[in-house]
Amino acid sequence: MSEHDGIDNYLLKGGIISGYFEFIKSEHGADAQAECISETGINPKDIKSNDYYSGEMNENVLQWISGNYGIHELKKAGNFTAKNLGCLTHLVRFANIRFFLRKAKDSYEETFQFGRISVLNDEFGKKATVIFKDSNIIEESCEAWIGAFEGFFEITRTKGTVKKTRCQVKGDEYCEYKLAWE
Ligand SMILES: [Zn+2]
Repeated sequence: MSEHDGIDNYLLKGGIISGYFEFIKSEHGADAQAECISETGINPKDIKSNDYYSGEMNENVLQWISGNYGIHELKKAGNFTAKNLGCLTHLVRFANIRFFLRKAKDSYEETFQFGRISVLNDEFGKKATVIFKDSNIIEESCEAWIGAFEGFFEITRTKGTVKKTRCQVKGDEYCEYKLAWE
C-alpha cells in the first residue's frame, strides 16, 4: 500500500511536471534531462500543461532530482517552476504579494486536485502563514514549495523570506510556511 492510497483525485496539472523537466534542462543540461526521461519513463513532450496527470508521475521526477542532486535542489526546482508557470506569471505581473496570496487558494485548486491550502494574513499585512493539508506526500514536494514561495516574491518584486515551520510528511498535522516581507 502506498502513502497516497487515502487521497482521492491524486492529480495535478501537467505544467508542473513539464516545468521540472525544463528546470533539469536549464540547470543541468540536455543530457541530464535525457537521463531523467529514460529513468522515469516520462517524456515531457507527451505532457500537456493544462491536462491532469498522476501525482505519482510528479513524485518520480522530484525524487529523480533529489536522488541526483540532493534534497535542497528541490528548492531551486520549485522556484524555477513557479516562475515559469504561464498562468501564474500572467496573474501576478501587475500584482503585489498580498493580491497574489489572496488568489493562492483558487490557483492551487485549479492546479492540484488533492490537498488544501489556507493562507492566514496578519493584521499588519507584512506576514502570512500558509498551511497545506494532505498536499505533500514526499519531503521533496515540501522543499519545492519553499522555492515556489521565493519565486512568488521574485515575480511580484517583493523582498521577503520563507520559513518551513511544520511538516505533515514528518508527522505534523499539516505543512506550514511562514512568509514575511518588507
Ligand atoms: Zn511538509
